[in-house]
Amino acid sequence: MTGHMRTRFATVYGPGDVRIEEKELTPTGPCQVLLKVEMCGVCGTDLLINSGKLPVKIPYPNLGHEYCAQVCESGSEVGWLSPGDRVVINPNYWCGHCKMCQSGLIHLCTEKAGRWSKSNGGFADYALVAGDLVHKIPADLPAERAIFAEPLSCCLHGLSRTSMKPGDRIAILGGGTIGLLTLLALRHGGDNCITVSEPVAGKRAIAAALGAERVLDPLTTDVAGELRDRMDVVIDCTGCSEALAVAAVIAAPRGTILAISLYEDGLSSDLQPGFISRKELVIVGAIFAPFRLPDAIRLLSRSSFTAEKLIGSTVELADLPGVMQSALVREAAKIAVTP
Ligand SMILES: [Zn+2]
Ligand SMILES: [Zn+2]
Repeated sequence: MTGHMRTRFATVYGPGDVRIEEKELTPTGPCQVLLKVEMCGVCGTDLLINSGKLPVKIPYPNLGHEYCAQVCESGSEVGWLSPGDRVVINPNYWCGHCKMCQSGLIHLCTEKAGRWSKSNGGFADYALVAGDLVHKIPADLPAERAIFAEPLSCCLHGLSRTSMKPGDRIAILGGGTIGLLTLLALRHGGDNCITVSEPVAGKRAIAAALGAERVLDPLTTDVAGELRDRMDVVIDCTGCSEALAVAAVIAAPRGTILAISLYEDGLSSDLQPGFISRKELVIVGAIFAPFRLPDAIRLLSRSSFTAEKLIGSTVELADLPGVMQSALVREAAKIAVTP
């Protein structure tokens, strides 16, 4: 095996136009790793890219970043990996020399330079990636759980941006992957009273099963009226600007609002600024955080961290283009794709 491997991979050609294509990979370079994909989760980011709401350079061959894989071959400079090792990846680029990178905040890199090479994303049979992007996972960590390492690292980072204390009253707006993983992480971290607001019944059921104290349907419940001024921490995982306005209403005085969604470009919010001063609110944002991947992997290795419960269905790579257009992507907390 010399890296002359053929792979199928998903490419976005425009809004709603995902195609599964095939190509031959270049030989594995000295700093690269050839990975055989085991499973890849469909992320909200993939859906935003697919719908054209998150601008990317078209055609975009890097769709799929929440994946786990097996090392087939590693370059001479990637001596810490051996064939057969299982890994997840940090999908993000950073330059290493801007002010943010120099401060250790590589996820806030202002250059986002393509310093690391990637042949394609994780909706594929194989991927060739820079060894620096790879994190080892335990040999016995099921793929159904390992695919949550990247989104969980984002949740752990988000929680660390709040000054949350044991016993705090917490509202999670949105019971998708980020909301439900945040719930799981909180249930493993302390004794908090967690309310989840989510319109999809199946996701509310998962939230209840994962230990949410209260589960509300925002379509039939006046969440703002019900929780007004009572939540010490409000975590917006919806990606909807309306939710941020609700967050400011339900936050308690001196409360914290954490905006952890990837909001589509051009959104504006009806959040009333008066709440910020009158209640002395703290509003913080959080985005992905590769430096929390080791912690995410460690948490997922606990038998009680049952992230796999989020998977609504598992589909084959060939079916991905159809699935991306279907209602399934809204109904399931997570869809897993296998090559
Ligand atoms: Zn993601
Ligand atoms: Zn940088």
